[in-house]
Amino acid sequence: MFKGIGASPGIAIGKILLKKESKIEIVKKHIEDSIKEIHGLHYARVKSKDEILKLYEHTLETIGEKEAQIFEAHSMIVEDMEIFNQIESKIKDEKINAEWALKEITDQFIAIFDDMDDEYMKERASDIKDVTARITRNLLEIQEIDLSNLKEPVIIVAEDLTPSDTASMDKKNVLGFVTAIGGKTAHSAIMARSLEIPAVVGAGDILSKVNNNDYMVFDGDEGIIYLNPTQDIIDRYVGKLEEHKNFKYALQKLIGKETITVDGKKLELAANIGTVDDLDGVLRNDAQGIGLFRTEFLYMDRTSLPSEEEQFEVYKKVAQTMKGKPVVIRTLDIGGDKDLTYMDLPKEMNPFLGYRAIRLCLDQLDVFKTQLRALLRASSYGNIKIMFPMISCMEELREAKSVLGSVKSDLRNENIGFDENIEVGMMIEVPAAAIISDILAKEVDFFSIGTNDLIQYTTAVDRGNQKLSYLYNQFHPAVLRCIQLIIDNGHKEGIWVGMCGEVAGDPEMIPILAGMGLDEFSMSPISILKARYILKNIDTKKIRDLLDEMLSMPTAKEVQAYINKKIPFIL
Ligand code: PEP
Ligand code: MG
Repeated sequence: MFKGIGASPGIAIGKILLKKESKIEIVKKHIEDSIKEIHGLHYARVKSKDEILKLYEHTLETIGEKEAQIFEAHSMIVEDMEIFNQIESKIKDEKINAEWALKEITDQFIAIFDDMDDEYMKERASDIKDVTARITRNLLEIQEIDLSNLKEPVIIVAEDLTPSDTASMDKKNVLGFVTAIGGKTAHSAIMARSLEIPAVVGAGDILSKVNNNDYMVFDGDEGIIYLNPTQDIIDRYVGKLEEHKNFKYALQKLIGKETITVDGKKLELAANIGTVDDLDGVLRNDAQGIGLFRTEFLYMDRTSLPSEEEQFEVYKKVAQTMKGKPVVIRTLDIGGDKDLTYMDLPKEMNPFLGYRAIRLCLDQLDVFKTQLRALLRASSYGNIKIMFPMISCMEELREAKSVLGSVKSDLRNENIGFDENIEVGMMIEVPAAAIISDILAKEVDFFSIGTNDLIQYTTAVDRGNQKLSYLYNQFHPAVLRCIQLIIDNGHKEGIWVGMCGEVAGDPEMIPILAGMGLDEFSMSPISILKARYILKNIDTKKIRDLLDEMLSMPTAKEVQAYINKKIPFIL
């Protein structure tokens, strides 16, 4: 048995097709006819451009706009004259072969992008690598295994898969894939989830252990891989595969249904989104609203602030697409781990405790007011609610509301319409806010608990620190008590309480949260139907009876064990 990282759920059982990178040896050669070499380069470039265009169209049709954007980026690279003029000059000036010149120049660009701190820019480096490999193959007329045209169902095993590989996969015949490298957030993993192909990544030295036509069974949830397994194991996984299919079918049947518990409590399952491209998934998974729109993505990967008009169009589109369902839009939450190069944010010792989110907005009022104007204008087109992030004291909340009030009166003076009854809420991500949530609740229309940050601030554990991940735990009794306190305080003041941190979509936590009285659960769209399934099978009254005992347990481990023992509907 091998263990990798479960990257896309599902079971795969079948024969292996090894996709070994044909190691392309590129050697420097002296050439006489540079014109012929440049023609060769052009031919390979045009061929690559055609291939990329086909991949773009195929991806757009079969997966979605967001995934297809990768190929838009690739096509910009094949069309980038800055790169190709440099390659041509190198061929001419140094009288060298095209593939060598291509490698030398693109290596320079790759090194520049790889060196940048910005994740988006780093991704540009892998895009250039992918495009360079394609042009090189076309230059040297090297044939690769064509994943878009497979003769029989197979499990693909490879060192790594590029977005081009994943997007072109013949979904009918790819049972799943396993890669030696990569993590959950690699492009190939993201594509696999969108395509609903089971996948395991980061499987280490798997390539040295497998041969073409070996038999494999793997579990894309757990990351477990069996090579040439016994009949017993095959039978067990055939059973699991069957269960998986039935479960998927059962989930599809929940589309269009209410989220209502056994004891008749109606709950709201909303989606977290970062861009308008995520709306496809929101509709497909039947979200009852948007519980968190992380607007900072609108400000990222660009060179200047988005204008009021640009933001207005985006917020309006989201509001209209959701057709009157609630859309909670969070104001800019930049800083911490999210940087904006063009804003020249200060380098800080503790960025998560620093100049971020509402703190930054209240300091840079022009940025804040532009966003609030766009949000208010868009509120005429749907059911928008405004939410402030990282509020740590009443002063911040009052100040943010007062800025909102002044933007409202500007709009009134200009005769620009907006929803006069727009709800205004705040995230609870800071323990100080949780502790005074009884007071804060008097001045907002709703709370949304941001557990991603709340856990890190409550337990003093950096949410991104792998070495400390064992301490970052939603089952910590302090975290659970904090959540219960916030919900109770919100309800005492008659406001609704939601949650938009990752915990809201955690199958083990969903029943507990429902028992605690959470009103709205906001999560990644893909988790929604599973959450509905869980909620439809639990009785919140029975869970409520367990809370006192659960909340008095001393350790996270005991809490988790208690939940698993006492609550039958955990998947
Ligand atoms: C959170 O902190 O739980 C949250 C939803 O915000 P983000 O993950 O964007 O910090
Ligand atoms: Mg947060």
